[in-house]
Amino acid sequence: MSPTEPSNAPHGNSGPVLSARDLAKAFGSNKVLRGIDIDVRRGQVVALIGPSGSGKTTVLRSLNGLEVPDAGTVTFGDADAGTVRGSGAGLTLDFAGNVGKREIAALRDRSAMVFQHYNLFPHMTVLKNIIEGPLQVQKRPRTEVVAEAERLLARVGLADKRDAYPFELSGGQQQRVGIVRALALKPQLLLFDEPTSALDPELVGEVLGVIKELADEGWTMVIVTHELAFARQVADEVIFMDGGVVVERGPAADVLREPREERTKQFVKRLQ
Ligand code: ADP
Repeated sequence: MSPTEPSNAPHGNSGPVLSARDLAKAFGSNKVLRGIDIDVRRGQVVALIGPSGSGKTTVLRSLNGLEVPDAGTVTFGDADAGTVRGSGAGLTLDFAGNVGKREIAALRDRSAMVFQHYNLFPHMTVLKNIIEGPLQVQKRPRTEVVAEAERLLARVGLADKRDAYPFELSGGQQQRVGIVRALALKPQLLLFDEPTSALDPELVGEVLGVIKELADEGWTMVIVTHELAFARQVADEVIFMDGGVVVERGPAADVLREPREERTKQFVKRLQ
C-alpha cells in the first residue's frame, strides 16, 4: 500500500479532535443514551464495545449528526478558536439548545462514517459512489477528486473496480469502497459502525487489515466493533457501554485483559 497523507494524521501534537459531553437520547420512553462522555485525541483509536442495544451505534450517529441527541455537547477541535464552517476552527454543538441544519452540516463536515451494510448507492459505479460527496457536498474540483479516488482505490487493491457497480463486488470489496468513500471526504475523524459484522468470516480479515493500516498511519477513529482481538490490536482506548452508560473505559490492554467491572468481565468472557 502506498503512503497517504491522512488529513487527520498527527501534526506534532495530540490535541483533542473530539469531545462529547453528557450525550442523552431517548426514542419515545426508551432512554438509549444516559450521559455519555467521549474524548478522542489526534491519531487516537477508540473502540466502543458492549452488548447489542447498549447504545453504541446511537453514540456514533450522534457524533456525525445522523442522530440528534436530546442533550449534551459535541465539540470538534479547539472550540475557543471559533465556529466557522470548514475553516478548521473549533465547533461546538449544544444539543440542549437550538441546533439547526447549518450546525448539523458543519458537524457532518468533520467526520465520515463507514456503515455496517456499506450503504453504497446501488445505481452508481464505484467511482461515482466515492466522488459524489466531495463533488456535490464539498464542491471540490472534479479532476482533483477523481485523482484522489483513484489513488485511494489503488491503495485498497481495487483500482480495477473503478467502473464496477456494487452488486458486482464481494461484501469485503464493497466495504473497502465504503472506507475509500469515507477517506475521500478528508474527515478529521473516521467513524466505523461494526464494519465487518455483515461480512462472511473469510472476508473479515481484508477489511480489518485496511482499518489497521489506517490506524498505523495515524488516522483518528472511533470504531464500534464486536471483534475484541482486533480492538486489542488497534485501539488505544476501549469504552465498554451497557444500558446507555459507560461502564468502564481505559487502555485496551486493561479493559480487555483485566476488566474491573463485573459487567465488563462477563461481556469480554462471552466474546472470547
Ligand atoms: P447498539 O449499537 O449498542 O446495538 P443502538 O444504538 O443501535 O445499540 O440501539 C440502542 C437502542 O436504541 C436499542 O434499543 C434500539 O432498538 C433503539 N433505537 C436505535 N435507533 C432507533 C430508532 N431510530 N428508533 C427507535 N429506537 C431506536
